[in-house]
Amino acid sequence: MPKHCPSVSGVVQNHDEFLKSRRPVQLLEAERPDRMEEACGVFAVLAAEQPVANLAYFGLYALQHRGQESAGIAVFNQGKVRLHKDMGLVSQVFDQDVLARMPGHLAIGHNRYSTTGSSRVCNAQPVVLMTRLGAFALAHNGNLVNASELRHAVDDGQAEFTSTTDSELIAFALQQAVDRGLDWQAAIRAALDLCKGAFSLVIGTPSGLFAIRDGHGIRPLVFGFLGDQDSGQWVVSSESCGLEIIGAHYVDDVQPGEIVHFNIGVSTPDRQRWSEQPNRLCVFEMIYFSRPDSRFFGESLYSYRQRIGQTLARESGVDADLVIGVPDSGIPAAIGFSQASGIPYGDGLIKNRYVGRTFIQPTQAMREAGIRVKLNPLPDVLSGKRVIVIDDSIVRGTTSRKLVVALREAGATEVHMRISSPPVTHPCFYGIDTDTQDQLIAAQLTLEEIEQQLKVDSLAYLSKEGMVEAAKAESSHFCTACFDGDYPIPMDRDVLASKLMLEPAGIAGR
Ligand code: SF4
Repeated sequence: MPKHCPSVSGVVQNHDEFLKSRRPVQLLEAERPDRMEEACGVFAVLAAEQPVANLAYFGLYALQHRGQESAGIAVFNQGKVRLHKDMGLVSQVFDQDVLARMPGHLAIGHNRYSTTGSSRVCNAQPVVLMTRLGAFALAHNGNLVNASELRHAVDDGQAEFTSTTDSELIAFALQQAVDRGLDWQAAIRAALDLCKGAFSLVIGTPSGLFAIRDGHGIRPLVFGFLGDQDSGQWVVSSESCGLEIIGAHYVDDVQPGEIVHFNIGVSTPDRQRWSEQPNRLCVFEMIYFSRPDSRFFGESLYSYRQRIGQTLARESGVDADLVIGVPDSGIPAAIGFSQASGIPYGDGLIKNRYVGRTFIQPTQAMREAGIRVKLNPLPDVLSGKRVIVIDDSIVRGTTSRKLVVALREAGATEVHMRISSPPVTHPCFYGIDTDTQDQLIAAQLTLEEIEQQLKVDSLAYLSKEGMVEAAKAESSHFCTACFDGDYPIPMDRDVLASKLMLEPAGIAGR
């Protein structure tokens, strides 16, 4: 498989080069959140004599930041599968009565934010299907880039689709492979061979639990054990914070291209590689998506984010009186910036923790009202100060613009914005909900134009080198496509054309 998508082989090295090559498209104000949004968390527990539904509830609770539209848990008990899923947060979908009706030895859980398929209860996960070997439950984090091709492959005239998700298509591919006579392991391999894109999967079966990552490992997935090391009680989670909340001990990441098979009471899982590809973990998991207390490459993301703040200070220092961070994701980088620059850190913005993420508000007008509800500047801290404000990214710039106005109204005499990631110039196709390219401000405007648009005294982004070199992993280990267009997985032409509006003429439509 080629390393880069042939249709976007013109990998862009820097922002100015990209801007010179783009086709002009009018900036649109769409009714969309001004954030990159995560696209699901998955969780699984395999343990005899444990309240697996309750444990899955807490695991999903720790992963709530990865998706807030719907939640679901499927529990296996004596050959039967009980499923409960609905729209809303984990704490809204489940209560003690529901969980008490879900005894069993294996639970599969899912939090959803939609990337393929609309936000409806029929698209909530896990997906549960019946086969000749019994029922299975599948939960998926990621996004396929060949969903229409896969739908064609699995639509045998008898498949009864109940959702519009790519995850259900993976489940149908698995069901059909089992019903052709394959065992679970072989059927999973056959289904995966039909899938192209990003996927971290947990699959509960009558024959135990399977945890799988796509060949590049774009979305994270980790596993650990409950109790003693040889207890044979296994937990799989999108992030390590899901293990810690239920007292499970981290063992390892599910490696890119790996199928890990856990059997109840068996102290060593069976690990097999089904795909050999270069590792390309989503670098935005490091910068923003994953929780700061989750561990990647042997350390918490809090440490990584502090280090990129230090790098940002060295790359783009400016004379000022105060460093503040946009809560919560900008705080570790702001502390790092303060450490490296010697400029005091302060809490200039107070977040109302009881307001949901702005994206659940359906209209632009409501979101505009919402930002001041969610973040309130502190005049006592900001008044008369030259302020450096650190945020993790800028997508469309509308939120940043309002934030700068609010800081000035609170008395800041200068506002210098520093961003702990490079300019976002390309959309994501691998499970993160981004705008089309014509709505990304850095795909439209030069640095000076963005400064004017945001009404800041100065603006600087972290360099791509600074971003990857601060990680305790090889710099080639990451997907950085939304910063440079270097897409690791080839995509169908129609998928590309749907979002790449500004590529040099001919590329998106090829
Ligand atoms: S394109 Fe960006 S958001 Fe998407 S997987 Fe790659 S780095 Fe992550």
